[in-house]
Amino acid sequence: MTPIALGLVGLGTIARNQHLPALAETPALRLAAIASRNAALPELPGYVSIDEMLAGEPDLAAISLCTPPQGRFEQAAAALRAGCHVMLEKPPGASVSEVEALARMARDRGLTLFATWHSREAAAVEEARALLAHHRVTAVRIDWKEDVRHWHPGQEWIWQPGGLGVFDPGINALSILTRILPEPVHPVSALLEVPENCQAPIAARLGMVTASGAPVEAEFDWRQTGPQTWDIRVQSDGPEILLRNGGATLLVGGEERLTAEDHEYRRLYARFAALIAAGQSEVDLAPLQLVADAFLMAERRITEPFHDPG
Ligand code: NAP
Repeated sequence: MTPIALGLVGLGTIARNQHLPALAETPALRLAAIASRNAALPELPGYVSIDEMLAGEPDLAAISLCTPPQGRFEQAAAALRAGCHVMLEKPPGASVSEVEALARMARDRGLTLFATWHSREAAAVEEARALLAHHRVTAVRIDWKEDVRHWHPGQEWIWQPGGLGVFDPGINALSILTRILPEPVHPVSALLEVPENCQAPIAARLGMVTASGAPVEAEFDWRQTGPQTWDIRVQSDGPEILLRNGGATLLVGGEERLTAEDHEYRRLYARFAALIAAGQSEVDLAPLQLVADAFLMAERRITEPFHDPG
């Protein structure tokens, strides 16, 4: 079968670290062109914008957007108008309603829109979901704490409106949460700590409940140096489930059940190709909705200024 020609937009951290290697291992897709304001790959046609790439590469059938969420809507809409299937990095957009608009555009044109959640592809997530399917969840605790200076140097967009701040990694935890729990959750309280020189939070505490009333507490913090923490702990009427390392490791009742290497992006691209072949879209907005709700109801505390080392 002829591989689908794909154009990639935004040659930043995640594009280089994950998208390029994953695409190289996805036979159903062929990276055919790059759109980047500042960078290029020697072996591929390069364009400074998605509009120029769409005009210059009429054979493109799919676009993968690796840009920040602000501005992603216009890029995705241009790709859909040009008749291309679209894969979105997480978070899928800067607002819930703009992604709903994209989903409608894709549906009207018979195109695939894939709003990815890479953390849901972590090795232990589906096993945790299967284990919890037949249990009554009684409490959940999320600790997602990392060093922003290490992981996001020089990323100004992340501190701007629509950049999400600490919810940029935090939404990964929420994407796992909304996949593994057998019932929906909604927020009841939120506290955002916002550096006085930034528009987005450096730390957040989120109180949620499940549909049957079990408490779900989440703490996101970007000020953690030393060991980093990406844990989700679920209590139920069965054994305790603990997802560690962002979903790569599963402990059941304190015993390690599973740990595996990272194939998140390879799985995402294989699914994108499968969705295109099946003529389907996948757009689950539950994690973004939780973040939007947190911003709606949050108490806001101003904290000391943040100075980016990058
Ligand atoms: P990044 O390193 O800042 O790269 C983003 C790229 O997008 C830039 O290099 C730039 O590429 C392009 N871009 C287009 N418009 C831009 C604008 N107005 N401001 C800044 N860059 C712009 O960011 P990233 O870490 O790759 O993150 C991109 C997306 O991937 C985000 O939604 C993020 O949540 C998600 N993600 C990141 C990670 C991670 O660990 N970093 C992990 C998973 C998902 P050109 O100069 O080539 O145009």
